[in-house]
Amino acid sequence: MERKTVLVRFLAGGKLLYGRLEDGEIIALEGDPFHGYAESGEKYRLEEVKLLAPCQPSKAVCVGLNYRNHALEMKQPFPEEPVLFLKPSTSVIGPGEDIVYWPGIKRLDYEAELAVVIGKHCHRVKEEEAGEYILGYTVANDVTARDLQKKDGQWTRAKSFDTFLPLGPYIVCGIEPGDLLIQARLNGRLRQESRTSQLIFPVPYLVSFISQVMTLLPGDVILTGTPEGVGPMEVGDTIEIYIEGIGSLVNRVVALEE
Ligand code: MG
Repeated sequence: MERKTVLVRFLAGGKLLYGRLEDGEIIALEGDPFHGYAESGEKYRLEEVKLLAPCQPSKAVCVGLNYRNHALEMKQPFPEEPVLFLKPSTSVIGPGEDIVYWPGIKRLDYEAELAVVIGKHCHRVKEEEAGEYILGYTVANDVTARDLQKKDGQWTRAKSFDTFLPLGPYIVCGIEPGDLLIQARLNGRLRQESRTSQLIFPVPYLVSFISQVMTLLPGDVILTGTPEGVGPMEVGDTIEIYIEGIGSLVNRVVALEE
């Protein structure tokens, strides 16, 4: 497999750029990772830029109940095929941005998830070809209005509010996704801990399965499901999702500013 490469999308001096992160320094790119790029020679320190969500998906395709222990805690049978749902592009926020606890929601949950970032147009691909269509991996929080998910019987409203898809901070290319530690910490306390080896349907299977249904575009993400230990967040809480080899995605929960 290729060498590990860490990609970021960021704002610096009013410019929106992609970059490659190396030893705390960002080397700016001309172009983007989805259509080709060259290193521009400009360099920035990580502290002097604002990191953004590392891609702008046209859609996030999400997999429900993909860890056995999460299916058990939700009192749901193990799925025979991946259970798919979508989150809209408008739900995406970046690292450090706020998750809004919108009025009318009574329970707002975090869900730690490994996200696959699609690198190129992907339609009806075989499982063994899936790797060619993956740019890399990032960290996601599948924020969910749990009360509305139960009430509605399907998941669109509960999963789709603006700010309900924190993504980032980096896209890491050239890592194997099959056995990574995944954790969620709420206000510093460990709430979810598992490994991606516990996925019922692994990454290549998901890419192939989803691509039989819909074309995946460059920058689209697949959220691979959350392990056991989901739970509620309150206004003022800080939620950190960590995945080994990728990094930590940290966001705070805020009330709507009227
Ligand atoms: Mg989820």
